[in-house]
Amino acid sequence: MICPEEILALDASDPLAAKRNEFCLPEQTIYLDGNSLGPLPKGVKEAVADAVQNQWGQDLISSWNKHGWIDLATQVGEQIAPLVGASRGQVICCDSISINLFKLISSALQLNPERQIVLSQQDNFPTDLYMVQGLTSLLGAERCQLKSVTTEQLVDAIDESVAVLLLTHVNFRDGQRHDMQALTRLAHDKGVLVVWDLAHSAGAMPLSLDQHNVDFAVGCGYKYLNGGPGAPAFLYVAARHQRAIKQPLQGWMGHQTPFQFDPDYQAAEGVQQFLAGTPNILSLVALNAALAVFADVDMQHVRAKSIALAEVFIQQLSQSDCTNEFTICTPLDAPQRGSQIALAHPYAYAITQALIDRGIVADFRAPNLVRFGLTPLYTRYQDIWRTVQVLSEIMQTKRYLDKKYQTRQKVT
Ligand SMILES: *Cc1c(COP(=O)(O)O)cnc(C)c1O
Repeated sequence: MICPEEILALDASDPLAAKRNEFCLPEQTIYLDGNSLGPLPKGVKEAVADAVQNQWGQDLISSWNKHGWIDLATQVGEQIAPLVGASRGQVICCDSISINLFKLISSALQLNPERQIVLSQQDNFPTDLYMVQGLTSLLGAERCQLKSVTTEQLVDAIDESVAVLLLTHVNFRDGQRHDMQALTRLAHDKGVLVVWDLAHSAGAMPLSLDQHNVDFAVGCGYKYLNGGPGAPAFLYVAARHQRAIKQPLQGWMGHQTPFQFDPDYQAAEGVQQFLAGTPNILSLVALNAALAVFADVDMQHVRAKSIALAEVFIQQLSQSDCTNEFTICTPLDAPQRGSQIALAHPYAYAITQALIDRGIVADFRAPNLVRFGLTPLYTRYQDIWRTVQVLSEIMQTKRYLDKKYQTRQKVT
């Protein structure tokens, strides 16, 4: 076993240690669910209070100009851009991932009009697949057809029949991470455009969308970016495509001159045309303030710590009494995984509930996974150490068999 002294030494030499202080974290809670809902950064409280009390409360509608509400979607997009390796003018913050996927997949299909297949993975996040299925109902199978394959079949399936490759960079269940650069290159070699879903990547690791020549991407505001429940998502459109496409959700905020109230749609220049309706200002204010946490963070440090936290977890688990009860579904090879650990067990739901009861917040993913999100900005090595200790105890005492842990709630 790694001894407690070693763990404390890791925390003491952690270059990100001070970041923990920038978050509101309840006492006695180890929060390993920041990959699902990031915790509240302290600065967000004030920013939202100011937006409500002073901006909305006092300045009312003049706030659109006076407090820059009208440019907030663009401004927050530009704040996210460096986190995903994008230069200016390519990222905007709006709507949800689902809605942004609709815009981007439609746009990508326009660029490849001779082909209709959208290639994805069977175990992709369901909303990604649902959006393609919805587009098929709308456009017809001759314009949009979903082909979803297993991870093993993926590389061979990228061929000249495919219009768009739609992948999630880090799988939400098992945390497996794709090689974005290699797959993007392979896709381009076959004339395929790529749409990457960065829900479990943005804010968790360095990304290089420009450098890897990515065409389109979407990402999440409320997971690793800590923007709060229902925070707007973001989308990325490579500058080279922006003139050639027209996204179909032509709302007034994506118009060239929204306040001319022109009866005919004229798309705004650049990534601005990907806005549809009025932005959610309060949520944007929260996300904007949450992103300040990243201002002085080196994403290489975040990735290095994420890997180290996972190594501690895996090593501790493999030496604990309960190791044989679980299957570790996350790849053990660090470059192949994202920032989470997923353990399979037939009683995964009850085990998760028993952990939560002990102050360790993990989550359950059907059918049989206990998922631990490793978020390096506020998770300490000692938290991981304690998590494995408690898990081992729960398994040894079989406390998870208690009846109260068996009832499933609406959100797991
Ligand atoms: C969380 C998540 C989403 C969420 O989509 P919304 O439309 O923003 O709710 C989408 N894709 C993946 C891969 C996710 O993990």
